[in-house]
Amino acid sequence: MSYCRFSSGDVYLYPSIYGGIECCGCSLAEKVNSIFTKGLPEDDPRIKFFGLEPDTPCEKCNGKGCDKCMMCGNLNFTSRNDAIKHLDKHVRAGHKVPQHAFDFLRKEIENFGDTEGLEIPDEPVSPLLDVTTGERIPLEELNNE
Ligand SMILES: [Zn+2]
Ligand SMILES: [Zn+2]
Repeated sequence: MSYCRFSSGDVYLYPSIYGGIECCGCSLAEKVNSIFTKGLPEDDPRIKFFGLEPDTPCEKCNGKGCDKCMMCGNLNFTSRNDAIKHLDKHVRAGHKVPQHAFDFLRKEIENFGDTEGLEIPDEPVSPLLDVTTGERIPLEELNNE
């Protein structure tokens, strides 16, 4: 489940199983070096994700940073109001954000408040709360849907 996806605009915002609300590949976030592995610990997930050898600089720029190896990072919000303010920033920057993303967040604030369920957990958890009980819907139940 997500508030909005790149298929319906310029923003991909979702409640993360690692806590908070994530704006993924956010064009307002600082660019991060995605494949330059020099100096990264050998077990850094990016090395595995991009199928690289440790200590390999980007072929194109030799590690200086270029459009091949730099990509937009993620931002995380533990307040729904902060997430709404962030969406407003996207709108002001001329990015397309579907109205349902705002509606969904406002509805959640009505139901659960600003921060309920957005705490950063020790282990991945279901980010979805049951509207009637306010309890987390277990991850296993989400997977079965
Ligand atoms: Zn963003
Ligand atoms: Zn590069």
